[in-house]
Amino acid sequence: VPSLALKIDVDTLAGTVHGVPRLAELLSARDAGATFLFSLGPDHTGRAIKRLFRHGFLAKVRRTSVATHYGFPTLLYGTLLPGPDIGRRCRELMRQIRDRGFETGIHTWDHVKWQDGVAQADEDWTARQMHKAIARYREIFDTAPAVHAAAGWQMNRAALRLTERLGFQYCSDGRGSEPHIPVVKAEIINCPQIPTTLPTLDELIGNGGVTEANVAEHLLELTRVPRDHVFTLHAELEGRRLAPVFERLLAGWQAQGYALTSLGGLLAAQAGRPLPYFEAETGSVPGRSGTLLVQGKRFLH
Ligand SMILES: [Zn+2]
Repeated sequence: VPSLALKIDVDTLAGTVHGVPRLAELLSARDAGATFLFSLGPDHTGRAIKRLFRHGFLAKVRRTSVATHYGFPTLLYGTLLPGPDIGRRCRELMRQIRDRGFETGIHTWDHVKWQDGVAQADEDWTARQMHKAIARYREIFDTAPAVHAAAGWQMNRAALRLTERLGFQYCSDGRGSEPHIPVVKAEIINCPQIPTTLPTLDELIGNGGVTEANVAEHLLELTRVPRDHVFTLHAELEGRRLAPVFERLLAGWQAQGYALTSLGGLLAAQAGRPLPYFEAETGSVPGRSGTLLVQGKRFLH
């Protein structure tokens, strides 16, 4: 049975409070597993407004109405209003997700700061951000986090090394085709990467005639040939305005024979099979501006 892991990125306070419970309901109704990746520190989404007005982001905002999804006052956090501390406010809600049987992990400490800063950051900066997220995760869940999934698929060499050194069991920090052990400039990072294999809804909608009305059918076409997949969704989108699209996807994937599971569930289903080595690179994906972590060439094969 092929596995389809549902990787849920939670970026904001509003997404945590409103999107996460709705997604948990949709998933439980279908007996589907998933991994919730939380933003654990301050919500500085307002600072992303600045980014929205750079390189082509305005067109993207129009396409997906990111502004209306994130809503007011989220877009002011970190600018006119102080950024609320998501982990502090939502401790109980996050623990309930864990208690309902879902996998939980770290998305980031400060989403905007990481997404805009990590590519140019040094090892100290990177380690500080990851340590803050881990400390908060431990406070909330009374245990160490097993999984890291970088905000905006943004990483650097130090961050990749830290996935191993800080004791993560596996990560989903980039985009690619299959679970693997990442290699950076011939350095093996002994922490598996389970990359996102499918495009996100916001990458698809608005390109090549794809609309909110037909995006589910378009995506189901990409999963017609059975093989393991990782789909990334956002609590802010699929947990709110695009929830009906997500329900159609869940039904469609189950009809195609997929086991809907967590990242850990997908990896466990490969039990025993050694993972291949692939180079970790910076690249781009269609429908998304800028660069991100991608699975490169097979290493020493
Ligand atoms: Zn995110």
